[in-house]
Amino acid sequence: MQASGSIPRRRSVQVPVGTVRVGGGAPIVVQSMTNTDTADIEGTVRQVQSLARAGSELVRLTVNTAEAAAAVAPIRERLERAGVFVPLIGDFHFNGHKLLREHPDCAAALDKYRINPGNVGRGSKRDAQFAEMIEIACRNARPVRIGVNWGSLDQELLASLMDLNSRRAQPWDARQVMYEALITSALSSAQRAEEMGLPGHQILLSCKVSGVQDLIAVYRELARRSDYALHLGLTEAGMGTKGTVASTTALSILLQEGIGDTIRVSLTPQPGESRTQEVVVASEILQALGLRVFVPSVTACPGCGRTTSTTFQELAKQIDDFLRAQMPIWRSRYPGVEGLKVAVMGCIVNGPGESKHADIGISLPGTGEAPAAPVFIDGEKALTLRGDQIAAEFHQIVENYIEKRFGAAGKVPASHDA
Ligand code: SF4
Repeated sequence: MQASGSIPRRRSVQVPVGTVRVGGGAPIVVQSMTNTDTADIEGTVRQVQSLARAGSELVRLTVNTAEAAAAVAPIRERLERAGVFVPLIGDFHFNGHKLLREHPDCAAALDKYRINPGNVGRGSKRDAQFAEMIEIACRNARPVRIGVNWGSLDQELLASLMDLNSRRAQPWDARQVMYEALITSALSSAQRAEEMGLPGHQILLSCKVSGVQDLIAVYRELARRSDYALHLGLTEAGMGTKGTVASTTALSILLQEGIGDTIRVSLTPQPGESRTQEVVVASEILQALGLRVFVPSVTACPGCGRTTSTTFQELAKQIDDFLRAQMPIWRSRYPGVEGLKVAVMGCIVNGPGESKHADIGISLPGTGEAPAAPVFIDGEKALTLRGDQIAAEFHQIVENYIEKRFGAAGKVPASHDA
């Protein structure tokens, strides 16, 4: 494998996935994946709805059994009846060729197919089964993600590259050979798909690994060697803080280099945690990098010895939760509201200054300060709140500000708001 060097901002092929455009300079798209049994139509519809409401722009479903394949068209139909038009992606392994062949309504209802070249079959069956899936994609004019994963890497390919490597005068280390196997599997599969008639602008690639440095190395090389649109994600990122930090670190470095057209954050939900957390993290990564704007931002200080009450933490959380919860409605009612900046600060040290930088900000009283909370609107001190209703009053001030600033221009008929 050649050294990568620095990667210039690259061109990538644009892929239509249902109503969403991916790659070719289009905004980077947030993808998520359900963890319901796809055969459970009601449960899957509910989860897709909540993922879409949280901001997922593409949703992938496991299609692993005849029952799951049979459920896809009814899922699509129910979502559309509920006004949810998020593109659906079918995730196929081992029996995808058979399911797509035997369930043409599933093949037609999906907006994109994900094919793992390591899991399409072994030996002489592999090429025929891969070809059948590509042929069905061509017939239905559906794009395909060639999704390689190091946990299911084509073992025959890896063995042949290991063999080749052992004959080199200066063999690569095993990790480099693994990188090369991932990339070769993706690129050679894409080439085969094109030879079978699937246009390049209907192909996306991914090469997922679970190590941050591995992911960065593989994607830099993949981006250097092709211009297919790329789906980006750290596979098996893990739970909670660890999974969030690992995904954010890896994805941020690559996105900053212009690598990645769709992203997914593969978080293992903590017990009781919503599946939508992976959408929130993916959106926050893009928003923090300045690549997309999804929700109004709340700037809050971390607090310190100058603030001994939890009032400002509670207010910051309430405001953040409130703004996020309203976005599904506000997106159409208040165009541009996602760019709103709110500050909730703990004391006079940085409170007034930070509040002035926001569209609307509040500087709560720290320990020992007079019990007064100045509110700043558009950089000017507008009023001071006092008493034990500060939180409720500030909440109302934010709502009034949004209505006044974003309401008039963005008003749509009430029937469009549902
Ligand atoms: S604004 Fe005040 S309370 Fe918040 S971190 Fe700074 S000094 Fe501490």
